[in-house]
Formats: sequence, C-alpha cells, structure tokens
Amino acid sequence: MVKPIVTLPDNLLRQPSDEVVSFDRSLWGLIENLAETLETQHDPPGLGLSAVQIGVLKRVFVARIRNKTKAFVNPQILKFSKKEIPFLEGCFSVPLLYGHVARPAEIDLKFQDKLGKKVESHFKGVPARIIQHEVDHLNGTLFVDHVHNQNGKLFKIRKDKKGQEHLVELPMV
Ligand SMILES: [Zn+2]
Repeated sequence: MVKPIVTLPDNLLRQPSDEVVSFDRSLWGLIENLAETLETQHDPPGLGLSAVQIGVLKRVFVARIRNKTKAFVNPQILKFSKKEIPFLEGCFSVPLLYGHVARPAEIDLKFQDKLGKKVESHFKGVPARIIQHEVDHLNGTLFVDHVHNQNGKLFKIRKDKKGQEHLVELPMV
C-alpha cells in the first residue's frame, strides 16, 4: 500500500527507531508498503525510504540497489572508508531542498533480511551513499544536519519558463 510520506517539521523524523525483533507478517507488510511507496516516487526518483518516513519507528529501510528494491532490517555500519566524497543529496521528508554532503565512499554493513537472516556486505558508490542516508533516518538524523555541520549550502530547485530546473542557493538561517 502506498503511504503518505512524513515531512519536516514533523518531529517523528527526529525520533530514533526501535530494533526489529519479530520477523513476521507485520514486518513483511511494512516492507511491502515501503517498497510500493518508494517505487511511486518519480520526480525525483526514489532511491531509499526508511520506515520512520511512513510513520513507523522500526529499524527498517528499503533501497534501490542495481535497479532492485532491497530491504534492510536492523542495519549497522561496521566500518567506514577514510576517503570521503561530496554528493548532492535530497530527501522526500525535506521536500525541494538539496545540499552537498561529504560522506565516506565505502562502508561495511551488517543487516538482516526480511526473514531475519544475518548478512554482511561491502558497499561503495551510490548504494553506500543511500545506505548511510537511510541509517541516519533510523537515528533521527537528516541530511540537512550534515550540510549544517559541514558549513555547506542549501539549495532549492526552481523551474524556469522552459521547465528547466535550476538550483538556487538559499540564504543561511
Ligand atoms: Zn531521506
């Protein structure tokens, strides 16, 4: 079922999510709702969505990895690469705002699948970026916090008369 997305200033986004202990129908229903909600986002296309973003404080997110929607339960980043790269991030819970966030380029991740099976994987590139953004959601952190901490700038998208999108810098508040 496609669910409405929780957006700022809803304080739910600031709550840490709870560990999943039951790998049952209610978890599978949640994962299905997350996948369906993510897959309906086309402008911009959805790359990841955490349970808190549809109002459920559980440590679950889905992410588009190599064109497939994959579920991550109880994710824990075990190791970050020293090398960091900047990337323009946005978030469905922070509509229309974008900003550059520097994050480690590669991570080692421990998580469980929807049946509770424990998995360890290495991620780099865009998947590593999406996963770090989503793990942040489970801890009540948003990308705008990193933009702020890194003294970065926030941008919003403005369309010109031809429908072309431009990034317009926002004054810092
Ligand atoms: Zn987000």
